[in-house]
Amino acid sequence: MLLGILKESAAGETRVALLPESLKALRAQGIDIAVESGAGLSAGASDAAYAEAGASVNADRNAILAKADLLPVVNAPDAADQARLKPGAVVIGFLKPLEAPAALVTAIDRPVSLFSMELVPRISRAQSMDALSSMATVAGYKAVISAADRLPRLFPMLMTAAGTIPPARVFVIGAGVAGLQAIATARRLGAVVEAYDVRAAAGEQVRSLGAKFLDVDLGGIVAEGGGGYAAELTEEALDRGRDLITRTAAHSDVIITTAQVPGRPAPRLIRRAAIEAMRPGSVVVDLAAPAGGNCELTRPGITQEIDGVILLAPLNFPAEVPVHASQLYARNILNFLGLMVKKGEIAGDFGDEVLAGACVAHNGKPVNPRVAKLLEVVHVSD
Ligand code: NAD
Repeated sequence: MLLGILKESAAGETRVALLPESLKALRAQGIDIAVESGAGLSAGASDAAYAEAGASVNADRNAILAKADLLPVVNAPDAADQARLKPGAVVIGFLKPLEAPAALVTAIDRPVSLFSMELVPRISRAQSMDALSSMATVAGYKAVISAADRLPRLFPMLMTAAGTIPPARVFVIGAGVAGLQAIATARRLGAVVEAYDVRAAAGEQVRSLGAKFLDVDLGGIVAEGGGGYAAELTEEALDRGRDLITRTAAHSDVIITTAQVPGRPAPRLIRRAAIEAMRPGSVVVDLAAPAGGNCELTRPGITQEIDGVILLAPLNFPAEVPVHASQLYARNILNFLGLMVKKGEIAGDFGDEVLAGACVAHNGKPVNPRVAKLLEVVHVSD
């Protein structure tokens, strides 16, 4: 069996799906590995390091696409690459099956089997394969570092002979994986941190990191959906959060906002009035930008200055920390492959909850019901 590792082709992508350190366990099973030349360079892995780990390095991307039986990727290959895949191959990665299912049609028709890291069920057994959490951790950290870099103030309180400098005040909205990492990072830099989440259960985690949890009375509305996620709120409940955010923004130097509801556009929580209430020089980092953003002024991918406030809307912070983002992602992929590959062959139990949950398409058909429905809609509107 041949496993291929490609140089990611999406604009701005610097991560790689597997690093040389990941190859030992695969080689031990007799799996051959072909790496596109330069695949790991921006993530700190040279062609020589892959070769030393037992891979053959090949400059011919198309040859790898045509021959690989197993293709772990960061992002979905584009349509031209999909058309070159070996029929029957297995592709695993962040394939965006719910956001952009139409972009997978060439691969589905080839047919190749598609497994999405976004769809790996978030159950305890699959925690070591949870690539969304890995990337959210990196993004939460990077959001604080980026804000600290741009803020015209220091984060920690300093007592000097020239007087005392007060600590920066950071407000984190959404205390999930990214938000909790942002809180921990901001605290380590010495900031005073407040956080808000609709899930009351997040309060204890926020407090355990030394931050203040801001409670909002949602009038008895159930804010917890399934699987530890937030539910989509009514406009009235959202408004109560927006009021709190506007009040808190007025004394915050930095806002890191991460609120998301799975499968839905990000809730619009930060009004223009909240941005206007902040001091010039303040920084807002909207980590929900890929899902449209939490701020009504956000333009995904674009940094703006609004009345002196910097509003960042990054689409791919993990790609700005490619070494560790790739390391975490590669381990998630390797653990996932542990379920799928036995003795060097693709032979896992495909009825297993994790493999079945992550499977997008097999044998030329979408097997995930939500993807199938979305593709029907796409076909009708064609
Ligand atoms: P997410 O990215 O979907 O959302 C981020 C945060 O935004 C969540 O905490 C959510 O409650 C919050 N949010 C949504 N709407 C909001 C609103 N209107 N106002 C304020 N906050 C709002 O979530 P995530 O970070 O991927 O994870 C969320 C939960 O899932 C957490 O409880 C986490 O511990 C849990 N989780 C479990 C596992 C596992 O068991 N394997 C893995 C990862 C996460």
